[in-house]
Formats: sequence, C-alpha cells, structure tokens
Amino acid sequence: MTVLGITGGIGSGKSTVTKALAQRGALIVDADQVARLVMEPGHPVLAKVAEVFGQDILQPDGSLDRALLAQRAFASTEQTARLNAITHPAIGELISEELRKHNAAAAADREVPAVVLDHPLLIESGAIALVDKVAVVVVDVEERIRRLGQFRGISEEDAKARIAQQLSDEERLQHADVVIDNNGSVEDLESQVEALWNEVFGHGS
Ligand code: ADP
Repeated sequence: MTVLGITGGIGSGKSTVTKALAQRGALIVDADQVARLVMEPGHPVLAKVAEVFGQDILQPDGSLDRALLAQRAFASTEQTARLNAITHPAIGELISEELRKHNAAAAADREVPAVVLDHPLLIESGAIALVDKVAVVVVDVEERIRRLGQFRGISEEDAKARIAQQLSDEERLQHADVVIDNNGSVEDLESQVEALWNEVFGHGS
C-alpha cells in the first residue's frame, strides 16, 4: 500500500487535491485536523501547553484562548520552539497511528484503494518519513496571495507574512516525487489529480 503525502504552501490547493482523492475513495489523514484535536479541552497536550505558557491561556470552559497563546508562543523563536517541542511529537504520534489504522483497513478492503496524508508541514515536521511518496502542490506566490484574499478573506500583508514563515516552493520541490502545478484552473488541477491517481496508485480507469 502506497502512502502519499501531499504538501504545499498555504493556499496552494492541498485541501482541494485531497478532497478530489477522497472522492475517488482514498482514506485521508488531515494533519491540520490532528493538530486541532490535541488542543481540544481536556487533551493532555493542551494541559501541558498551559503548564508552560500559563493557565490563563485556558478559558473558563477549558478551551484554548488561541490569540493569547499565539501572542506568547510567537513572541520569539525560542518560545515557538518550546510550543513545538510539546505539540509536534504528539501530533506526529497521532498521525502515525491514524496512518497505521488506515493502512490496515486498506490492506483488508480492496474498496479502499489508497492512503493520503495532507500535511502543510510534511517536510519541516519530519512526517515525510511516514509516507512513501510526496506530492508538492505549487502556485506562484502572487496567485496564492490573490486566492487567499478572495476565498478566505486573508489580507495581503497577513498572507505575505504567513508565506514568509514557510519553506519556499523551491525547497519543497527538492523532496517531490510528483509536482502538481496549480497555477491554472480548477479543471486543470482535477486532471492532474486524475493522472496522479493513475500513476501513484495504479487505478487506471
Ligand atoms: P490549501 O489547502 O493548500 O491551503 P486550498 O485547497 O484550500 O489550499 O485552496 C485555497 C483556495 O484556493 C480555496 O478557496 C480553493 O477553493 C481555491 N483554489 C484552489 N485551486 C484553485 C484554482 N486552480 N483556481 C482557483 N482557485 C483555486
């Protein structure tokens, strides 16, 4: 069973590609979703984060005050590293666990033909070690800024700042087995997904 990792910068089209693969029957592990899970009220990872960054990052109902944590954790690279040292290993373990479960399900059921990990930090987090192949979705920075503004209401300044914090496409491409160029239309993207589906998972129609 091939496990395919999908990565790319913010606004590159990872979710769109992943959704198209899910529609074809792939089992998906969504790293963003796992990252949110460990920050849910009562989760031991959130409790540990509160121990380190202050109990007041927890609101009366136990949920995380994201703005306050961000203010503290992104104040310096040292603080960011402290937060990552708590969250990243736990997220990595959960992702690995989900991939194992999906792999077992896929091996047992011919109707489940593929396993995909959608991970914005696939390379940076080391989760790349958990996948067999890597697909990188690339889009020119200007176009990503435009789409983030149009579809997600993110300001140009904010989009630029977020993009600057991430690896560049050039850096990601060094790890790519498959490159998906999403500068074109959604239909263009869809036909690249179809080709990827056939080539990587051998599901020719
Ligand atoms: P990511 O998951 O990498 O952040 P998304 O898949 O959410 O990116 O795509 C970002 C936004 O751009 C979404 O609103 C999506 O619908 C839109 N989008 C994706 N691909 C295209 C495309 N080829 N043309 C226009 N809009 C697109």
